[in-house]
Amino acid sequence: MIIPSWGVSSPAIPAPAKSHSRGQFFTPTVRCPPAAPVRPWFMRLIDTHVHLDFPKLRDDLPAVLARANEAGIGGFVLPAYDTTGWDAVASIAADHEDVFPAFGLHPWEAHRDFEIDGLRERLLTSDAVAVGEIGLDTKIDAPDLETQLSVFRAQLRLARALDLPVILHCRGVFDVFVDVIAEVGPVRGVVHAFSRGPELAKRFLDLGLYLGLGGAITRPGAKKPRRSAVVAPLERIVLETDAPGLGMDGVPNGENEPANVRAVAASLAELRNTTIEEIADRTTRNAHELFRLP
Ligand SMILES: [Zn+2]
Repeated sequence: MIIPSWGVSSPAIPAPAKSHSRGQFFTPTVRCPPAAPVRPWFMRLIDTHVHLDFPKLRDDLPAVLARANEAGIGGFVLPAYDTTGWDAVASIAADHEDVFPAFGLHPWEAHRDFEIDGLRERLLTSDAVAVGEIGLDTKIDAPDLETQLSVFRAQLRLARALDLPVILHCRGVFDVFVDVIAEVGPVRGVVHAFSRGPELAKRFLDLGLYLGLGGAITRPGAKKPRRSAVVAPLERIVLETDAPGLGMDGVPNGENEPANVRAVAASLAELRNTTIEEIADRTTRNAHELFRLP
């Protein structure tokens, strides 16, 4: 089957100045030896979704970050899960200049007396790069969809009001999810851990959202997400692990860590028949644009 490439336009975010390619400013007059292979530490990847505050990673944080740096990962977006975790997220980000925090309430923790003013205050008094993670999930028994919807809407509106991107989680209710975002109005953001096929990918891209690709595309049998990874515009893809919870090829659920975003980049390079350096360069630029990273 031939899959047409999409004419999805990029959101109205100014692109940063192009970096100069190496060797642009000199013309060798003598024959140079072949260039050395590019080593991983010359490459900079960003894990745009990693729960460094979860015990599995936090209890061993210096080693976890060292292994990630060694693998070429030089930036980490740390989304909050529930309100009780906000202080831990803030303190890890304060201690590490390459960790960028997001604050929000995950749909699994949505509750009726959630106070949006508390989130506004937190976002305004921190270096938050996004509102997240937020969304809808009907593959769980509780909280009910109505509660999730009211918490989700309120957080989407707040993100728009503060001009922050959103980190989105969605399972099971894609139609409602798309409708709510369309209803609230354009938001910048990423659908994290995207693991579905090209049709749904296109619906999200048409809303101006980025796709967060992670462990799903590393699994050889995962045809749908791998097809999405091939046909989606590279300028709308960011990489993530969702560590430690979400596993990947050869890594069980609960055992993941941010160093493995390199394997996600390698899979994407292979699927798109390009180099890992090109994937790193573009997806890192995307992460900087989306989250306005320094
Ligand atoms: Zn997550």
